[in-house]
Amino acid sequence: MTRLAIATHNAHKVGEIWAILAPLVDGLSRADVASAGDLGAPAPVEDGVTFEANALIKARALAASSGLPAIADDSGIAVDVLGGAPGIFSARWAGSHGDDAANLQLLLDQVADVPDEHRGAAFVCAAALALPSGEEHVVVGRMPGVLLREPRGEGGFGYDPIFMGQGQTVSNAELDPDTKNALSHRGAAFRSLAPIVAEALGA
Ligand code: IMP
Repeated sequence: MTRLAIATHNAHKVGEIWAILAPLVDGLSRADVASAGDLGAPAPVEDGVTFEANALIKARALAASSGLPAIADDSGIAVDVLGGAPGIFSARWAGSHGDDAANLQLLLDQVADVPDEHRGAAFVCAAALALPSGEEHVVVGRMPGVLLREPRGEGGFGYDPIFMGQGQTVSNAELDPDTKNALSHRGAAFRSLAPIVAEALGA
């Protein structure tokens, strides 16, 4: 099978995406996927203004530098009362990229006075596939829910401790990883991309 490149330097994310795709892409073994880090690929500037655009920028750059079919995602949290913010700025909402604790606290403070019935939010993930031929696909997955009033749970990352999915009674940080993959925006996006990946890899 053709190898598949994944546009992340995070080994945990490679494992997570592979676990979502493997049951849906015949014969895709862990050894068939390589991260941007494994491939020594440079990270492109993510100057898109939508999740879809940024996912495509990352997938396109990796397909071009590796010569392999490449997938990428871009994700964040969209809060109804903030008109969809933090959105594409989720990772740097409090100013410095990747400071999860500060991002979460700022968001909680911003919506402190918002009543329960207006605390709707959704995690959103765009997943893109780019082929060295220039062919491109992008799909979006969503996990709707509400913002809690204080952090709950020790698992997950980012905004997970202050988010509870629709129909759930626990925060995302209280879900085990398999349950989170089954419910999450990232799971939904990569499950819709899987048949397109399978076709591209000839699986
Ligand atoms: P990235 O797509 O991995 O760059 O994620 C962007 C940012 O969105 C992360 O830094 C988190 O703050 C937030 N985010 C995306 N997905 C999740 C999730 O599943 N749980 C919690 N936070 C998330």
